[in-house]
Amino acid sequence: MRLVLFDLDNTLVDRAEGFRRWAWEFCAEHHLTPGDADWLASADEDGLAPRDVFFKSVRDRFALRETGAELLESYRHRHPALIPAAPGVLAGLPRLRAAGWRIGVVTNGDAEQQLSTLLCTGVAGLVDGWAISGHEGVGKPDPRLFEIAAERCEAPLRDGWMVGDGAATDVAGGRAAGLHTVWIDRGRAWSGDEKAPDHVVADAAGALALLLE
Ligand SMILES: [Mg+2]
Repeated sequence: MRLVLFDLDNTLVDRAEGFRRWAWEFCAEHHLTPGDADWLASADEDGLAPRDVFFKSVRDRFALRETGAELLESYRHRHPALIPAAPGVLAGLPRLRAAGWRIGVVTNGDAEQQLSTLLCTGVAGLVDGWAISGHEGVGKPDPRLFEIAAERCEAPLRDGWMVGDGAATDVAGGRAAGLHTVWIDRGRAWSGDEKAPDHVVADAAGALALLLE
């Protein structure tokens, strides 16, 4: 039995597109401009900006009535519903399973929000298990989170694979857990700082094709 673990945000799902949709909706509701949506996208730092800090700066910049905590609460409910699965994922995961793979998701983030994303995108029903850092209390690149995901899939980590767009979290973390690694480059060049991944592909569809070879 072969195991493959996938990162979630900007790997199996297009979190960046979901954020753009959220920003447009937020701007329409608050009578802001397209330029303000660009500012939101930049301040988001591809999801890496801490959410409480992000929403405090959003509130201050646009002098909004709601508190940062209130803005964060509506974002946590709304954003997952706007995130689409990445192209080819909903068709490709069943093919991978039919070819004998066990499939897991290993993701860093808020427990409730990542679970909503798994459910809203339809990915939850197509995988064997998942491990979310906010729920488990340990995050990538700690090998423990990969081990938990493998246990949920009832498959051994040994000779397994990790696919993701994060150099430190997914590639270095996956390697430390003993996994073969596939990096989703999203148009970026690999930085010389980290040991290179075993394979580089453009997107999830490319990773699925590679595993199905
Ligand atoms: Mg990612």
